Amino acid sequence: MRPLTATIDSAALAHNLRVVRTHAAGARVLAVVKANAYGHGLERAARALADADGLGLIEIDSAVRLREAGYAKRLVLLEGLFEQSELAAAARCDLSIVVHCEEQLRMLDAAPANARLDVLLKLNTGMNRLGFAAAQAGAALAQLRTHRAVRAVTLMTHFAAADEARGVTSQFESFSALAANQELPRTLANSAAILRYPQTHVDWVRPGIMLYGCSPFADAPAVQFGLKPVMTLASRILAVQELKAGDSVGYGSTFIAATAMRIGVVACGYADGYPRHAPTGTPLLVAGQRTRTVGRVAMDLLCCDLSALSAAGAGDPVVLWGEGMPADEVAAAAGTVSYELLCALAPRVPVIER
Ligand SMILES: *Cc1c(COP(=O)(O)O)cnc(C)c1O
Repeated sequence: MRPLTATIDSAALAHNLRVVRTHAAGARVLAVVKANAYGHGLERAARALADADGLGLIEIDSAVRLREAGYAKRLVLLEGLFEQSELAAAARCDLSIVVHCEEQLRMLDAAPANARLDVLLKLNTGMNRLGFAAAQAGAALAQLRTHRAVRAVTLMTHFAAADEARGVTSQFESFSALAANQELPRTLANSAAILRYPQTHVDWVRPGIMLYGCSPFADAPAVQFGLKPVMTLASRILAVQELKAGDSVGYGSTFIAATAMRIGVVACGYADGYPRHAPTGTPLLVAGQRTRTVGRVAMDLLCCDLSALSAAGAGDPVVLWGEGMPADEVAAAAGTVSYELLCALAPRVPVIER
């Protein structure tokens, strides 16, 4: 069998949830499991995160699946309903739904007579994607408070730059002004705000990436927060090539050896979710030692430099990301974020649960 696997460390997932709790003591935790739990497997993640107070996701079919499998805590559809026809399933499965626009507000009018939904009113405080603007928020809230199909309302917003120097101040102030005197539960914080902005921890926090052991910040590694990697993408060296100066490697001959060098050919490519745009120099581990990719990433293979690893050869283990090789570092080298690498894990990669 092809030696590429993704190992999911469920204990690390549970550990990272405890890290969330140490930062946001007192807040309830809505663990975000959208996009197949950031590529980690929805059911597997839900099991490992059993101590969370609820789960947040985008896909209603996934939420229904969790409920029908017996998940009993809060399940939040973070973008609410996309179509009127989803309302019945949301009510039947007691899903909490975000309402971010007038159209979604109107969908509630068609709720079955006995339906009582838990609603999160999303306020646009500066992200400018989803949510009611300040001028419309009051009217939307008044409608929800008196709507026959609404059991409870939580106020919600989402930060655009909690991971950057700009921070949350302006959005936090706008939200606080809208939420003042409403005596409703609130939810604001994503991973970055959980780690850097304690004032945002009321009443529910919504961690995503930190649960999976990665850092939301470009300037601070996950280990600094005591987070453990959950997904390890690992493979082996299939073959070794001895290059002479001037020889090239892989498609497009984008890498040309300046001197004689040894190249390891790794069973992993873009059809596995490894980014094709990762340039020469992207870090990886071979037999526990750090080296770099060389040449273009292909569909099923990529190449790495073994010149400084004289003992390394065919059959040696490779870590593309995970334990010992932070996905954040690989992502940075490839000009993206760890979120994208984790979510892109391809269905053909066998997953091993640990
Ligand atoms: C994805 C998402 C989160 C989690 O964000 P992270 O940066 O992964 O912590 C929180 N809230 C909402 C609404 C989301 O869509």
